[in-house]
Amino acid sequence: MSDETPFDYDLFVIGAGSGGVRAARVAAGETGARVAIAEESRYGGTCVIRGCVPKKLMVFASGYGRMADEARAYGWDIEEKGFSWDAFKPKLEAELDRLEAIYQRLLDGSGVDKFNQRATVADAHTVRLADGSTKTAKHILVATGGRPVKPDLPGAELGITSNEIFHVAELPKRILIIGGGYIGCEFAGILNGLGSEVTQYYRGTQVLRGFDDEARGLIADEMRAAGIDLQVETDVVKLEKDADGIRVFDTRGRETIFDQVLFATGRAPNTDGMGLAEAGVELGRNGEVIVDDFSQTAVPSIWAIGDVTDRVQLTPVAIREGMAFVSTVFRGVPMKPDHELIPTAIFTQPEMGTVGMSEEEAIQKAGEPLEIYTTSFKPMQQSFAGTAAQKILMKLVVGKQSRKVLGCHIVGPSAGEMIQLAGIAVKMGATKEDFDRTVAVHPTAAEEIVTMRNPTRTLG
Ligand SMILES: Cc1cc2nc3c(=O)[nH]c(=O)nc-3n(C[C@H](O)[C@H](O)[C@H](O)COP(=O)(O)OP(=O)(O)OC[C@H]3O[C@@H](n4cnc5c(N)ncnc54)[C@H](O)[C@@H]3O)c2cc1C
Repeated sequence: MSDETPFDYDLFVIGAGSGGVRAARVAAGETGARVAIAEESRYGGTCVIRGCVPKKLMVFASGYGRMADEARAYGWDIEEKGFSWDAFKPKLEAELDRLEAIYQRLLDGSGVDKFNQRATVADAHTVRLADGSTKTAKHILVATGGRPVKPDLPGAELGITSNEIFHVAELPKRILIIGGGYIGCEFAGILNGLGSEVTQYYRGTQVLRGFDDEARGLIADEMRAAGIDLQVETDVVKLEKDADGIRVFDTRGRETIFDQVLFATGRAPNTDGMGLAEAGVELGRNGEVIVDDFSQTAVPSIWAIGDVTDRVQLTPVAIREGMAFVSTVFRGVPMKPDHELIPTAIFTQPEMGTVGMSEEEAIQKAGEPLEIYTTSFKPMQQSFAGTAAQKILMKLVVGKQSRKVLGCHIVGPSAGEMIQLAGIAVKMGATKEDFDRTVAVHPTAAEEIVTMRNPTRTLG
């Protein structure tokens, strides 16, 4: 196709994050399309530079204090001198540099032209680069992701977001985290594990809205038991600079001083000043790009994938949307990204893995009576050690008539690893009886998922 097109490129991708990089390198490397990509910040995007990857490395870092206690209980002679941010931070930065270089090499190796600058849409087939030059393309793919947003309140500029937390010069002694979503809860666990005194405010009645009530209730209890001062139905009114730190005024009329305030109060799609609406692309209420099932916008030559479309904000979803886009546009095989039954992990401490419907969602949507199977127990490893053990929860939401496992929720160590595998069974439409006839792997925590014989309760 390349020689027949009057355009500079067959595809111009804006944004080199999870979705954009995958789409660009597969289109160029596997279909022979002439592809360019523009990145205004760092290659790898949110996931690699300021999301999943650095976060997970910090989750790992934060777990070793607890492990040292356990190791002693198992007979190890360990002298623990505490965590050093100064030792960890340069290693984290070096790892992100390494990963960014891999992303760049993958693009180079696929023959993608890279422009290290901001790009906006000039018209249906033209991209304008920050240096003033323009490039034309048969297709434009908007993969600009999202950014954290702070609430509009006095002194908000004194707080930081998930973008900055990885770069702080030193770990705060006293930190306030505002927000009860998964990012706020994950950082509460991380910073608590690394030795900060963590207070978390959430304006709602329970953190992790949208997830199974029983699972999020257990996580909240365990977060508190681990030392996090989690305060629900509490929000911030204003922040003021104080000689001792940041003075926080809250909705309960209190004033408290913290060294650092982290806003985990939501994300907004990166569409500001992109020229999208002017080109005819429809945007939603929060600025997200509106696309059809194939990720095509209202302008046929402009497509959008990933967080900027605000469908499901996860890296593997952005990647799959990118792959489906390439299939549709460059392989001639129309493909809709599948957003059903997406397994996902929340790296709180304890961790959660979840796929399918929560009990509350199933009551609303399943259209049949339900059987709820739950089990809760202390993990063998910590029971033996006699150290504070975070409880494990396993839960299956089963359709009483269809027998299908409609939801699977696991809270506990390695829940993210477990749910990836349980997710295959649930995606295949496994029934409770399929789970039952699978032999347990003993002795593991995971075996409990196939040994729950009787429903804890029946609903409907
Ligand atoms: C703290 C945190 C933790 C997370 N943890 C997880 C997790 O554990 N698991 C998971 O699956 N997901 C996680 N996510 C979500 C995940 O990071 C995103 O869903 C994913 O990165 C979305 O990919 P994307 O390609 O849509 O956008 P992004 O990865 O955000 O990439 C967009 C890129 O576009 C660039 N850009 C923006 N505008 C322009 C422009 N005009 N010109 C040029 N370049 C531009 C940006 O600089 C960025 O590099 C996390 C996110 C955060 C913030």
